[in-house]
Amino acid sequence: MTDLTGKVALVTGGTRGIGLATVRALAEAGATVVLTGRDESAAKETAASVEGNVSAVGLDVTDAKAVSTVVRGVAKEHGQLDIVVANAGILEDALLGMIREDLVDRMMSTNVGGTIHTVQAAARAMMRKKTGAIVVLASIVGEQGSAGQVAYAASKAAVGNVAKSAAKELGRYGIRVNGVAPGVIETAMTEHLGEDIIAGRVEDTPLGRLGKAEEVAKAIRFLVSDEASFVTGQILGVDGGLVL
Ligand code: NAD
Repeated sequence: MTDLTGKVALVTGGTRGIGLATVRALAEAGATVVLTGRDESAAKETAASVEGNVSAVGLDVTDAKAVSTVVRGVAKEHGQLDIVVANAGILEDALLGMIREDLVDRMMSTNVGGTIHTVQAAARAMMRKKTGAIVVLASIVGEQGSAGQVAYAASKAAVGNVAKSAAKELGRYGIRVNGVAPGVIETAMTEHLGEDIIAGRVEDTPLGRLGKAEEVAKAIRFLVSDEASFVTGQILGVDGGLVL
C-alpha cells in the first residue's frame, strides 16, 4: 500500500463526499491530515470520526486571505506541508438560457477562485522545501462539455487548466500539480440527478455503474504519493470510461 508516513496533508471541503474519502485514504496511508470545512465545529466533529491523525479547521475557499492564513498556519503548526488537495467545489445545473450572473459568479469564485487561492497558498508553503504534491478536482464535464452545465463545466475546464499551468510554473520548485477528472460519483453533489439521467450515464459508462468517492480518493492518493514522482500537469480521468 502507498505509504505517506511523515507527510502532512491538507484537504479542502473534506467534510463529506470525495473530500472526506480522500481524508480517510491519506490518513489510512499514514499521513497527518488537516481537513477544512466552512462550518468549523462540524468539520472538527468529522475529523474526530476519522481514524488516524486527523484535525480540522474552518475555511471558506472563496476568501483568498483566509485560505492563505489557514494554509500558512497548517504548515507552521506541523513544520511542513507536503500534500494539498483542492477539493472544495459546488455544482448548480442550469440550461444556457437560465444562467444568471450570480450563478456564474458562484461557480467562478468557488470552483476557479477557490482552487487558484488554494494552489497559490500551497505553492508558497511548499516552495521553501522544494517538494510537494497538489491535486485539484476537475471533472469529465470540463473536458467533454455537458448540456445543462455550461457554467459548471466551464469552471471545471478552468480548474483542469490551473493544474496544467501551475505544474509548468512549479516544477522548478519540485512541486507536482495534477488533477483528477471524476465521472459521475455517488455523493451529495449528484443526489439530485433524476433516475433517467443516472440510467443514461450508467448506459454510457463501459464499466456499467456510477463511481464511488473512495475510488476517486485512491486516484488522488496515487497522484500525491511518491508512486507518481514523475507525473505532473496531468488530469487523470476517474470515470469508468464514461463518454458524455
Ligand atoms: P460534495 O458536495 O459532497 O462536497 C463538496 C465539498 O466542498 C463540501 O464539503 C462543501 O462543504 C465544500 N465546499 C463547497 N463550497 C465551499 C467553499 N466555498 N469553501 C469551502 N468548502 C466548500 O461534492 P463531491 O461530489 O464530494 O465533490 C468534490 C469535488 O469533486 C468538487 O470539486 C466537485 O466539483 C468535484 N467533482 C465531483 C463529481 C461527482 O460526480 N460527485 C464529479 C466531478 C467532479
